[in-house]
Order: sequence, then structure tokens, then C-alpha cells
Amino acid sequence: MRIVCVENLDKRLLELYQQLQAEHGNLRWWPADTPFEVALGAILTQATAWRNVEKALDNLKAANAFSPEQIHAISQDELEKLVHPSGYFRMKAKKVRAFVDHIIERPMAVMFEQDVPVLRKELLSIYGVGPETADSIILYAAEKPSFVVDTYTYRLISRLGWVEGNFHYERLRALFMDNIPPDTNLFNEYHALIVRHGARVCQKTPDCEACFLQSQCDFFQNSSD
Ligand code: SF4
Repeated sequence: MRIVCVENLDKRLLELYQQLQAEHGNLRWWPADTPFEVALGAILTQATAWRNVEKALDNLKAANAFSPEQIHAISQDELEKLVHPSGYFRMKAKKVRAFVDHIIERPMAVMFEQDVPVLRKELLSIYGVGPETADSIILYAAEKPSFVVDTYTYRLISRLGWVEGNFHYERLRALFMDNIPPDTNLFNEYHALIVRHGARVCQKTPDCEACFLQSQCDFFQNSSD
């Protein structure tokens, strides 16, 4: 994947944010009470819908296995049963266990004192924490500016014509990190707006007739030629 040479990309990214916000409103995202719950959610949501994560989180709460120490104390079989609704339950339980083991040694509050690049490197060193999970933990739990990208982001940005080639997490993230101000609220809201637009309008089969971005979208312009 490469970034296409778009004139004034920094301004256009901020304009896109304002347009998405005008269309979809203020979303304020990530339904969790504590940084640990955010991190659990970020691990459990890999390759599954949020409603399945909620069921797994409810199971953990109901079983009094909702702190690092409580999860650390239960058996792997029990943990697998509790996270079962989130899918890939054996792997997810292993990932949750690895994360919990890490933060028992290095509490999240201590980890979160670090700057974003150092914190990101530490999170990525934990089994089961990939770039999207690490960035979600940094943005929503540590409340520090690390832009989260995903397939919704790729679909929108590639259809607009700002990147070409296959999805590449780090390059797509860099497009935002390098061109918009490092502001936690902006990053939080921007990601939520992209997901909302991707889920409701710029879906796999896009509903271009309902989209306010037609005039600036390469995909639309090319398909209507
Ligand atoms: S015009 Fe169509 S392809 Fe382009 S951003 Fe909108 S929904 Fe997506």
C-alpha cells in the first residue's frame, strides 16, 4: 500500500473529519468503565462483533473475574468458558492470560506513564497484542493519541483515492499520525466516525447514492463514468 500524492492531505483529512461529524454527529466511543475493561475488550474484540465481547465481559463480571488478580487466580479452563462467546475462545483466553500476567508485573498505570512510541512497543511485545489492539489500548485506556485504523478506514481512504494497493496497517496509521494534530479526542472521534460511515454508508457494497462524499470520491467518479 502506498499513500497517493494528494495535495493538502493534512487539510483534507481535517475536512473529512468535519464532514463526517456534520453527517453523523458526536459519537464519543468505547463503552467501558475502567482502563482494564478497555484492554480486555480490545483483546476480545479481535475478529468478532462487539455484542459477543459484551457477553464475554458480562460472564467475567458475573464470575468475579474482572480484575487482573482475579483472572490470574482462575484456571485456564474456567477462563476459556467465560470468554467463549467472543469466539476463538482458547486463543482469546491465552491472550487475556498473557496480558494479565504482564500487567501484574507491570501495572497499567506504570506502563501508561510512557510516551506513545515506548508504550506501543511494550504493548506489541505482549502475546496476542497486535497493532490495532495496542492502539486501541493506548487511545481508549491510556487516553493518549495513537490513531486506530482498520478495514473500515482502509475502505474509505482507498475509495477516496488517497492510498492504493493492499491494506497495510502501519502505513495507513502513519497517514493520520503524520498529517493531523496528535489529539486524543480527535483520534477517538475520528475513528468512531469512520467506522460509523463504513457500517452505514461506505459498506462493502457502498451506498453511494446516500453519501455526501460523492464529489470527492475516486471510486464513485470512476464507477459513474
Ligand atoms: S461515494 Fe461511495 S465509495 Fe465513495 S465514500 Fe461514499 S459510499 Fe464510499
